[in-house]
Amino acid sequence: MKVRFVGAGPGDPELLTVKAHKLLTTCAVCVYAGSLVSNEVIDLIAEDADKHDSAGMDLASIVAVFKDAKNRGVDVVRLHTGDPSIYGAIGEQMRALDKLGIDYEVVPGVSSFQAAAAAIKKELTAPEVSQTIILTRMAGKTPVPDEQSMQRLAESKSTLCIFLSVSMIGDLAEKLKVSYGPDAPVAVVYRASWPDQLIVEGTLNNIGVKVSLSGIKKTAMIIVGQAIGVGNEAVSLLYDKSFSHEYRKGA
Ligand code: SAH
Repeated sequence: MKVRFVGAGPGDPELLTVKAHKLLTTCAVCVYAGSLVSNEVIDLIAEDADKHDSAGMDLASIVAVFKDAKNRGVDVVRLHTGDPSIYGAIGEQMRALDKLGIDYEVVPGVSSFQAAAAAIKKELTAPEVSQTIILTRMAGKTPVPDEQSMQRLAESKSTLCIFLSVSMIGDLAEKLKVSYGPDAPVAVVYRASWPDQLIVEGTLNNIGVKVSLSGIKKTAMIIVGQAIGVGNEAVSLLYDKSFSHEYRKGA
């Protein structure tokens, strides 16, 4: 018997991995994050599976489902939005499974930061501009260590992908202005890959107002940095004719 932590991807069911699709359509028990996983993905869960929406459950009741499945000798799919390793709270579930001696594995998924980058059609690693992507969040009920404060991270001028923070966008923009400058480009993607996906683009100066006018309050990815700006003309060496690599001789 096994528990599989499965990435549901950002919403579009065609962005599920082949493995996730197979597990979902054949599982006996599924615990899914109903507040974030799209209905189209939830509809794929095997019709006769025992289904539990984790939105209304605490850790103990989720673990009780795992225990019951162990007693019955059936596998469990624990479905998490995006990729399970990012803000998925899988660590505490794994520790509980370790204590119970229940085996588990993780099936990765397409994260929402990737779906948001696809929606805005931008490369997050632009040559000479940013070669680093930081996945982060503003402190909320969950605190963020001081060394990882938004102001500190901003000093590197990396491309920032900010989760769980759209309700604090005004405050966030103020914190980032110091290092990125007020005209730095920002994109906010609400429900990337869903039918009602919405993109709001602007600068650190005006993004707060634009987002509040758009009505976006949750389930949005914020991407900040010059890599997503216009007029960013630097070209990667990868396809340059003078650049040779393992698979191609230089000119
Ligand atoms: N494990 C998930 C993240 C879970 S935290 C992943 O890899 O994507 C929840 C946050 O993810 C939301 O507050 C939002 O910032 C982001 N998010 C999840 N789905 C999204 C989507 N379809 N579009 C934009 N942002 C999304």
